[in-house]
Amino acid sequence: MDIRPRGRLRGRRVTDALGLSVLEAALDCIVIVDADGRILEFNPAAERTFGHARNAAIGRDAAELLLPPRIRSESRRHFLTGPGSRRRVELVAMRAGGAEFPVELTSAPTDVSGHAALTAFIRDISDRRRVEAREAAVAELGRRGLEGAEVTELMRDAADTVVRALGVALAVALECEDGGLALRAWSGLPLGSAAAAAGASSDSPERGEAMRLRAPVVVTDWRTEKRFERPAFLRDMGVRSGVTVPVEGRAEPFGALSVYATEPGRFGPDDVHFLQAVTNVLAAAMERARAEEETIHRSLHDSLTGLPNRALLLDRIGGAVNRARRRHLTPAVFFLDLDNFKVINDSLGHHAGDQLLTEVAPRLRDAVRPGDTVARFGGDEFVVLCDDVPSEGDVEAIAERILSAFERPFDVAARELFVTPSVGIAVASGPDQQPAALIRDADAAMYRAKEQGRGRYELFDAAMRERVSGRLKIEASLRGVADRGELHAFYQPLVELSGGIVGAEALLRWEHPVWGWLRPGEFIPIAEESDLIVPMGEWILREACRQAAAWGAGPAPSLAGPLSLSVNLSARQLSRPELPQMVERIVGEAGVDPGQIALEITETALMADGDAPIRRLRALKDLGLQIVLDDFGTGYSSLTYLSRLPIDVLKLDRSFVARLGTEDGAAAAAIITAVVHMSQALDLSVVAEGVETADQVDRLADLGCAVAQGYHFARPMAAPAFGELLKGGAPGADATLTDAHADLSLRRPRGHLGRPPAPPRARLAPLEP
Ligand code: C2E
Ligand code: CA
Ligand code: CA
Repeated sequence: MDIRPRGRLRGRRVTDALGLSVLEAALDCIVIVDADGRILEFNPAAERTFGHARNAAIGRDAAELLLPPRIRSESRRHFLTGPGSRRRVELVAMRAGGAEFPVELTSAPTDVSGHAALTAFIRDISDRRRVEAREAAVAELGRRGLEGAEVTELMRDAADTVVRALGVALAVALECEDGGLALRAWSGLPLGSAAAAAGASSDSPERGEAMRLRAPVVVTDWRTEKRFERPAFLRDMGVRSGVTVPVEGRAEPFGALSVYATEPGRFGPDDVHFLQAVTNVLAAAMERARAEEETIHRSLHDSLTGLPNRALLLDRIGGAVNRARRRHLTPAVFFLDLDNFKVINDSLGHHAGDQLLTEVAPRLRDAVRPGDTVARFGGDEFVVLCDDVPSEGDVEAIAERILSAFERPFDVAARELFVTPSVGIAVASGPDQQPAALIRDADAAMYRAKEQGRGRYELFDAAMRERVSGRLKIEASLRGVADRGELHAFYQPLVELSGGIVGAEALLRWEHPVWGWLRPGEFIPIAEESDLIVPMGEWILREACRQAAAWGAGPAPSLAGPLSLSVNLSARQLSRPELPQMVERIVGEAGVDPGQIALEITETALMADGDAPIRRLRALKDLGLQIVLDDFGTGYSSLTYLSRLPIDVLKLDRSFVARLGTEDGAAAAAIITAVVHMSQALDLSVVAEGVETADQVDRLADLGCAVAQGYHFARPMAAPAFGELLKGGAPGADATLTDAHADLSLRRPRGHLGRPPAPPRARLAPLEP
């Protein structure tokens, strides 16, 4: 390179035109030194950056002029020619005032007038370093966030990081809460004082604006700011400028980060960018924390109703029992089970069932105090936990409130459903009460309430425990009972009062290998709680059809007309869409005339849901079967409702017959008369049930009742006995049948659990004692 002086560039060592323009225009500092490290050339960028005039610089020892003393001797070599003089290093340089700053130095050997020299390009990398430092700070914050630091802790870190990186007076981290911003953490100089802490937690208008805009809001100078009034605490702290950046959540902001400086115009786009990077880290952490909270919430609540679930309930009961121990309280558990829910679910569909459950939840919540827990225990079971129920009167008051929550109908599947719960109550017995035991006892009491007639409550007592374990044993043994040959069909004749058997009702009996004979009352309600009733119902229908075909074929002198056998259908069976096909198949297989088979259903089974069961009944009637409305008079059927039903026979409930001849007799007689008249109008026949005395027979005959059933005529009996009866002549209103079979009766062992049955005295025996 020719660097001889030339023209107006005289005095310069570097003289060629290109070299000159490069020197002049370069943004980097260019310093050329001789072999001893003395400055030969110092360009305008170097003058600006280091603060030394070219003239003053030339001739000086570069290391002395440009490097801080503490690294001078070690870093001097960077300004010397020789091996390794082509290099790129980062080091700390020094400005004229002594201030240090980071530089990147790139050097290359040069030839100046035939002498070895060195050109050093020096770049101020303060900005890059600042960016790097900020990136590192954000990365560090992110790392802590990923490691699962608490959100508040992370907010404190963020405030510290921001104050350090921006060198500002104050940083405040806030979280959205109840529609406002709540202070979570702060950092900065003025906050040593209580006043400053109070100030940081005060509201500032630009924060609200940032939340509304969902974008950073920069205040360049609070003194001239037009959009917002400077709050007192900022003025007291001498704050002049500030930025608020929202912490963005997926749907709405989680919070905000605000920074304040005592100088005006302190915040540029880079700073805002940095703050946004910090808030991104916060957002991720808050998002994660919320997701975790949600997961925890979900795991403790029922998704359908939003109520606490079984796990949370047990936890709450545990807490209640502990508090009770310390403070002498009496917690109580109310266990609710919706009556006939399974029927609703099966017939109206799961969606309707779900809808009902979601409507029940708020009614229960409203029925109890805010501090009480209302939980969904599973299926159609709800549990209410009250922390302190000191007296039995309180228990009853709560139970009544719970029951009255069900007085209004529920809007489900575009219809009004009346639903009742059965409620079992257990009150903590003492300090050692186990939560699970409280639930178990309340559950037992609930079953008792159901047995007693649903829509009511029962308080647990110790005697119930025994029954429940029996119940559970029965349920377990009921599985597969039909396949094991333990079921029997007994037949109870239906008799014309004028004399002669017209048919029989098939009644289930269970002969358990250990417990002996069980009556339907002991196992049918349990079977109805589950689907176990379905195979059992199918079994007895098949059995009855088979018998009807057999008896219908043989000579039966005592029969008043064609023999008809009726079979009870439970609500569960009626709620099954495939019921008509099932019946059709069984009747077909038995080869019996469908007209010989009657199906008995109760009003409640029909009322549990809409039209589906009625349509099924109609299908059954279309097959030629008779339909009997059982236990008539105990439900609420209106005349119009009855006329819509595809039924052939009304079976008058035995309670009316039982009242004949008692104090209530006149009223019962009036009702029976009305029923008889009504049935004539609707072209139905009437059967009186539970006829036990000759007196009742007379009265029924007077009231116009033609057919009856009851112990007075015969007890239910095994098929062979009934076959004998059919052969044996007409049973009348005399006592011969009952007497004739009394000594054949099978003695049932008392207390069926665990004791083997007494051996039957005769094979062809009626079951009833
Ligand atoms: P239900 O349909 O009302 O059956 C009549 C019940 O009254 C029978 O009791 C019968 O033994 C009893 N009974 C007959 N005559 C008299 C009498 O003069 N006085 C009194 N006090 N009672 C009399 P059982 O056999 O114990 O059946 C009880 C209930 O169990 C039945 O009531 C019926 O609802 C149900 N059940 C019986 N068998 C079946 C079945 O196969 N399927 C279904 N789903 N339910 C059945
Ligand atoms: Ca019946
Ligand atoms: Ca009945």
